[in-house]
Amino acid sequence: PSALRVEKLGLQIGGATILKDVDLDVAPGSLVGVIGPNGAGKTTLFNVVSGIMTPTAGRVLMNGEDITRMSVPARARAGLGRTFQTSSLFPKLSVLENVRLAAQVAVGHDYSLFHFPASKDAATRRALQNLEEVGLTHKLLTPAGDISHGDKRKLEIAVLLAMDSKIVLLDEPMAGVASGDVAGLVDNIRELQERTGCTVLMVEHHIDVLMGLVEKVAVMYFGSIIAFDSPAEIMANPLVQSAYLGNAA
Ligand code: ADP
Ligand code: MG
Ligand code: MG
Repeated sequence: PSALRVEKLGLQIGGATILKDVDLDVAPGSLVGVIGPNGAGKTTLFNVVSGIMTPTAGRVLMNGEDITRMSVPARARAGLGRTFQTSSLFPKLSVLENVRLAAQVAVGHDYSLFHFPASKDAATRRALQNLEEVGLTHKLLTPAGDISHGDKRKLEIAVLLAMDSKIVLLDEPMAGVASGDVAGLVDNIRELQERTGCTVLMVEHHIDVLMGLVEKVAVMYFGSIIAFDSPAEIMANPLVQSAYLGNAA
């Protein structure tokens, strides 16, 4: 089955239609970009898929299983991981502690943080490995709130690696990242996907960042997906060009 399938998803809030008839079918192990003007519903779609918001129509399936009514923690345990447009790290905890907390969930131990760093338990070893994979081992003891924006995004990816996420939703991972750090972050995301075989959906405003990274791009516009195709096809799609005229943000 598809890693993630969204069927006729709708969301009404008050009198407003936020999502309308959203259909999306994502193959296992694929990397998909989500683009669209500000307010199009990209973050809301991620909120519904991750269970933070309940749709008023349609359903969400993960590996063929209907998860529309599943709780947020149950979805996370089932392997659905996400990052937020604003950082979801614990700023006062160190880089290592942030990843170690996530690793504890996957490793299945429930050690209190207060025992840290008494022993190199399985969660710590795993956290160190994940931090090495994203290139953050030189910042282990720095509070997460004190590292650069680009490093925070790397740290979020290390957290997702540590949690063993099977489907990863990245909401604007490049936002605020210094231009010199974008290529490194793109490499991190590619490596995350290749090494774990996970399925990645990422919101990104610059289609040139998606070229050569993702297999397909979903274009959201006024709460609907108006196109889902390869980056090259999306670039050439006149519907997308008119939807995008000057209001990408
Ligand atoms: P995007 O991520 O594509 O910029 P969003 O998903 O954040 O767009 O927002 C889509 C639309 O839904 C916007 O018009 C926004 O104001 C609205 N919206 C999002 N969340 C809520 C909410 N909880 N209540 C009311 N309106 C909301
Ligand atoms: Mg927005
Ligand atoms: Mg958004």
